Amino acid sequence: VPALVVQNLTKTYDNGFQALKGISLSVEQGDFFALLGPNGAGKSTTLGILSGLVQKTSGSAEVMGADVNADAFNARRYLGVVPQEFNFNQFEKVIDIVITQAGYFGMTQAEAAPRAEELLRALDLWEKRDQQSRLLSGGMKRRLMIARALIHGPKVLILDEPTAGVDIELRRSMWAFMKDLNAAGTTIILTTHYLEEAEQLCRNVAIINHGEIVQNTSVRGLLSQL
Ligand code: ADP
Ligand code: ADP
Repeated sequence: VPALVVQNLTKTYDNGFQALKGISLSVEQGDFFALLGPNGAGKSTTLGILSGLVQKTSGSAEVMGADVNADAFNARRYLGVVPQEFNFNQFEKVIDIVITQAGYFGMTQAEAAPRAEELLRALDLWEKRDQQSRLLSGGMKRRLMIARALIHGPKVLILDEPTAGVDIELRRSMWAFMKDLNAAGTTIILTTHYLEEAEQLCRNVAIINHGEIVQNTSVRGLLSQL
C-alpha cells in the first residue's frame, strides 16, 4: 500500500471558508515528500486532517491503508506528527513527555525507556532529560517534538514547517537527522514554503495554492522548469 492516499479531500471551516477544494495525492512508502505552498494555501489543514486534529468536510485520506476517520486508531499508530506549535506540558520533564506519548500507543515502560533514550541521544537531548520542557531553548523544543513523534516507531513522519524560524546550524542538523531517518525506511512528508528545503531533502513535491494542488511532480522535474 502507499504510505498516504488522499482523494478529493475538501475542508470548509465553520465560518464558511473553503480551505481545501478537493485535493488528491499519493505518497509511496519510503518517499521524502514536500507539500509546498505559500502561507494560507491549505498545508496545515491537510496535515491536520491526516493527523486527526481537523475534521474533513468530504473526500478520504488513508495512512498505510488505514482511513483516518473509519480506522483512526491504526492510522494514528502508523503516523508520527510534528506540529508547528509547541504543545507540551511546560512543567513536565523532557523524558516524561516522551514516555507519556509512548503510553498512548500502549507501549510499556520497559519498551519505551530504551527507545526514549536512543531518540533523546540522537537528538542531543539526553543531558536535558530531567529538565522541565519550559527550560529548553526553541531549538531543543523542536527536537523534543521530533523525539515525541517517533517514540512509537511510526512508518510515516509528518512535519509541519519543521525548520521555520530555526537558525542555520540547527536547520542543517535537522536536515541530516531527517535524511538518516528516511534512509532507514521512514516515509517523511513535510510542509514548507522554502523551495530550498524541498530541494535539499525531498524526492517528490506537491504544490498547493488556494486549496488546490497546482503541481505534483519530482523535485528534479520542478527545478528543471525554473
Ligand atoms: P473545525 O471546523 O475544524 O471544527 P473551526 O472552524 O471550529 O474548525 O475553527 C477552529 C478554531 O480555529 C476556532 O477556534 C477558530 O476561532 C480558529 N480560527 C478561525 N479562523 C481562523 C483562521 N483564519 N486561521 C486560523 N484559525 C482560525
Ligand atoms: P497553510 O498551512 O498553507 O499556511 P492553512 O491550512 O493553515 O494554510 O490555512 C488555509 C486557509 O484556511 C487560510 O486562509 C486560513 O486562514 C484558513 N483557516 C485555517 N484554519 C481556519 C479555521 N479554523 N477557521 C477558518 N479558517 C481557517
